[in-house]
Amino acid sequence: MHDGRVLDTPTPAAPLSTSTVSPLIGQTVGAQAHARAVEALLASYRAIPPGSGVRLAKRTSNLFRPRATASGPGLDVSGLGGVISVDTVAATADVQGMCTYEQLVATTLPKGFMPYVVPQLRTITLGGAVTGLGIEATSFRNGLPHESVLELDVLTGAGEIVTARPTGEHADLFAAFPNSYGTLGYGVRLRIALERVHPYVALRNVRFDDLDDLVAAIGTVVAEGAWQGEAVDFLDGVMFSPTEAYLVLGRWADAVPAASDYTGQRVYYRSLRDRDRDALTALDYLWRWDTDWFWCSQAFGAQHPTLRRAWPARWRRSDVYHRIVALENRYRVVARLDRWRGRPERERVIQDVEVPLAATAEFLRWFAASVPMAPVWLCPLRVRRDGPLGPLPEGAQPWPLYPLRVGETYVNIGFWGTVPIEPGAADGDVNRRIEARVAGLGGHKSLYSDAYYDEADFWARYGGAAYRPVKDRYDPAHRLLDLYAKAVGRR
Ligand SMILES: Cc1cc2nc3c(=O)[nH]c(=O)nc-3n(C[C@H](O)[C@H](O)[C@H](O)COP(=O)(O)OP(=O)(O)OC[C@H]3O[C@@H](n4cnc5c(N)ncnc54)[C@H](O)[C@@H]3O)c2cc1C
Repeated sequence: MHDGRVLDTPTPAAPLSTSTVSPLIGQTVGAQAHARAVEALLASYRAIPPGSGVRLAKRTSNLFRPRATASGPGLDVSGLGGVISVDTVAATADVQGMCTYEQLVATTLPKGFMPYVVPQLRTITLGGAVTGLGIEATSFRNGLPHESVLELDVLTGAGEIVTARPTGEHADLFAAFPNSYGTLGYGVRLRIALERVHPYVALRNVRFDDLDDLVAAIGTVVAEGAWQGEAVDFLDGVMFSPTEAYLVLGRWADAVPAASDYTGQRVYYRSLRDRDRDALTALDYLWRWDTDWFWCSQAFGAQHPTLRRAWPARWRRSDVYHRIVALENRYRVVARLDRWRGRPERERVIQDVEVPLAATAEFLRWFAASVPMAPVWLCPLRVRRDGPLGPLPEGAQPWPLYPLRVGETYVNIGFWGTVPIEPGAADGDVNRRIEARVAGLGGHKSLYSDAYYDEADFWARYGGAAYRPVKDRYDPAHRLLDLYAKAVGRR
């Protein structure tokens, strides 16, 4: 896609500035409306004929693998898209499972709070990010979104609503839910911990000509929470090439000389090359990557100055680009034009992988030499020791379906585009090579996109031994799909 194809609080209120927010969003729905929505959900479950599969009927998605079309009625989650309540004293929120982060942030930010980790795309939902994982620039200190969930109500495959907590009767479900992709049940309500915010994020864009230096800098920031004497609250980066990579070091700020705006004519990722210091409002920082879907909006011409001026601001959003890609996947217009012009078929290479910090430079050099695709996104992460399952010992793997190790720093590397299929090669070959390389370096791969593992290998990597008893307990008739069928079988 990058290549032109398709393709109530004492704290100060954070400014809700340039981004488009509907007047309906930003309000809590309350417990009664939530109870009614749960009733509607249960009624829709009962309306699905016994023995038939159970699936969500949901408007948006950030999944990238193509899926078999669902037949029959799905679960009615239409009333489950809001924030139920925010407790500003306990710094927690009760949130419905299909609440988008856009809605969640619009509700918590004016109260002086945000979730511990806010994935970059506005329409990712809290339930989706907990069951399908998510990551952002706070992940080097806050882990992944599921690591700040305190409890969750789950509609199980058996049609019951159970409350899963870190300990107690349903602790097995609590631990196995992250990376289960809705195959154990659907998150209906989640209580999450919130972090206090400040009005601005001050940024340093630090260039590295050498990947070993970049890796060493990540290690320093993770260990010290600071870089060259200045605190670091947010950490991510971009590699344009092995000799041109940037770390973006963010720090909460109560005042800045001026805040930039990348929701208009300027494009955020380009600013990394142009400025070594910058600042954004808290809200604009959280959605800095959404406006241009990182850099992928280039594929639709949305970064060309003339088209950008004509492109309505409300359409500069990741979900709009996602819909354009979905149309292409359906009608294959660009693919047909390419074939007509005699160009090679292309393989979709849309992946986020996690590689241990010590192997990150090696992986990035291999990637740059083997896969013709740039830029790539970099985001360090560590499992929280003090999270809901904590305190955790060094080396523990507390989340069995995505078994990252406590004490190890990983770097999430994201690349989203297509590559030409070389003569004699097959569609999927590049993805298979990436899978093998990541596994060889002790890494993991997110499952939101294409995966090619054989079944035994898959279950060995994604906690099969822990998954099976939980699946049998909460979905005994297997009315929900199984994780392998969903992630690899594209069902
Ligand atoms: C191009 C691209 C870039 C991405 N980049 C990032 C990124 O930068 N940062 C990041 O954090 N994540 C990223 N993701 C991954 C994304 O966070 C996950 O795919 C997440 O699962 C999407 O959530 P969603 O709400 O859109 O869920 P959907 O896409 O609707 O569903 C994802 C899966 O979760 C299941 N599901 C949905 N809601 C629930 C629920 N309430 N309970 C149980 N299961 C549920 C669905 O059945 C489905 O299997 C990216 C994905 C793509 C395609």
